[in-house]
Amino acid sequence: MNPQPKSITASSAGGLRSGRDFLESLNDGRQVFLDGELVKDVTKHPSLARTAHTLAGLFDLAAEPGLRDRMTFTSPKTGQPVLRAYQIPKTTEDLRARRLFSEVWAEATFGLMGRTPDHVASFFCGYAAVPEVFKAGGAQFAANVVNFYEKMRDNHLYASYAIVPPQIDRSKPAHKQADPTLYAGIVAEKDGGIVLKGAQQLATGGLYSDYIYLSCIHPLQPGDENYANGVMIPANAPGLKLYPRRPFGAVASNSLDYPLSGRFDEPDCFVVLDNVFVPWENVFIHRNIDVCRDQWWKTPAHAYGNCQAQTRYTVKLRFMIGLAKRINELSGNDSNPAVQVQMGELASLVSIIENMLLSQEVTASVDSNGVLWPSKTALYSIMALQSELNARMLEIIRELSGAAMITLPSSAADFENAEMNADIERYMQSGAADAKARVAVMRMAWDFIGSEFGSRQQQYEKFYGGASFLVKQNMFRNYDFKRATGLVEKALTLPAF
Ligand SMILES: Cc1cc2nc3c(=O)[nH]c(=O)nc-3n(C[C@H](O)[C@H](O)[C@H](O)COP(=O)(O)OP(=O)(O)OC[C@H]3O[C@@H](n4cnc5c(N)ncnc54)[C@H](O)[C@@H]3O)c2cc1C
Repeated sequence: MNPQPKSITASSAGGLRSGRDFLESLNDGRQVFLDGELVKDVTKHPSLARTAHTLAGLFDLAAEPGLRDRMTFTSPKTGQPVLRAYQIPKTTEDLRARRLFSEVWAEATFGLMGRTPDHVASFFCGYAAVPEVFKAGGAQFAANVVNFYEKMRDNHLYASYAIVPPQIDRSKPAHKQADPTLYAGIVAEKDGGIVLKGAQQLATGGLYSDYIYLSCIHPLQPGDENYANGVMIPANAPGLKLYPRRPFGAVASNSLDYPLSGRFDEPDCFVVLDNVFVPWENVFIHRNIDVCRDQWWKTPAHAYGNCQAQTRYTVKLRFMIGLAKRINELSGNDSNPAVQVQMGELASLVSIIENMLLSQEVTASVDSNGVLWPSKTALYSIMALQSELNARMLEIIRELSGAAMITLPSSAADFENAEMNADIERYMQSGAADAKARVAVMRMAWDFIGSEFGSRQQQYEKFYGGASFLVKQNMFRNYDFKRATGLVEKALTLPAF
């Protein structure tokens, strides 16, 4: 039997999970490979510890008594407070309440962490809201997914996910890869469950989560059945290996030079399954290409998960435009009309995205089960363009900042050298602030845009919801073209004159 995550329920946080409980649960034998070694404890590793503590802070924030209404709702099963991220929305008010929950966590991390526990929680809300989709593969799978959702909800669990096959050879389907066990798939079935082997990308935050949801959002075709699964795997399951990319926390020597990468670096983990056993109760989709596809589009899972993602993104954009404003204030350009035009464009883009988030609530619809679905066109229109819009917004800030993010001391240590400090204080000051205050803002802007951390952020915004050509296809599937062509028909049948 697979080991279960340790100490996942909290007593010290009013029934919720405390940051301490979370940190303690991470030292559970999970296999994280970094810099040529197996990491002993992710909460103590110099490159990984700070983000672990940032996440612990989110659990503590959710447990604050003053935020009880905003952050929790009552579990219908236990009567205990549980995270609102696990609330299945039935009304617009419920969806708004979910947004307000996620906003608290996003503001605590300035929108820089995409896979906080509310992300995959939102997917599981969507699955549990429409379990009939899973029933198409067998009644037990619908029961399994609802049971697992309830377990996650009632134990305040944190799941991440890996739902894209590795980029080995995109010209061939899963079953025609050079070796059929390259993509994560079933290699054996036993009485108690299934055995998986292969790799899957890219569990952001995976090394901090309790579970990894392994499934596939990539289109599959007949012959790919072994890869058409949906399973939950404990992060410490025997045979599960996590390979994070190079963490940026490693170079973050101090908080002045690395104010963001030192705190909010969320490692993206390549997932390798070396004959991982998954008991049947953790299996929701089993060798079923239709259900594997339908989980994303015939349940509100993808919409809930990405509604959370857009809530996070909106907070990040507010932070971003705040940085741009401070750059202009410090350079003395804030009242320059040409700069105001650029800032007006930036504010327009941010406002469009902010308002499309609200539009997901306003134009939501209720299905025959009484479950509320956020508006897919409001959601996907922004996601489809995010790749271009995000790049455009960053370009405006680069344009506005000139060399402001570059003409800075080499490091915080320069302030400690009397001779250097005198020059820095004299020449790197701003008309609006002393040198230290100016440097703090410019360093933060660089960490946001230009550092390795900032660059990964842009790649994340481009790809977290899938490649943009795929999101544009979602938009194509969901837009009401009938209404549009109806207008054309009407115009064509106007009385002749
Ligand atoms: C920072 C980061 C974090 C991520 N976090 C997660 C996560 O937490 N969980 C997870 O499961 N995944 C995650 N992902 C993975 C993400 O889901 C994938 O990167 C994304 O789905 C794109 O797939 P791919 O990288 O395999 O690119 P590919 O599918 O190989 O596409 C790459 C590019 O090839 C071109 N292309 C390929 N096929 C076509 C086509 N048919 N038409 C037009 N152009 C085409 C496009 O330009 C496309 O952008 C993350 C990715 C990044 C970059």
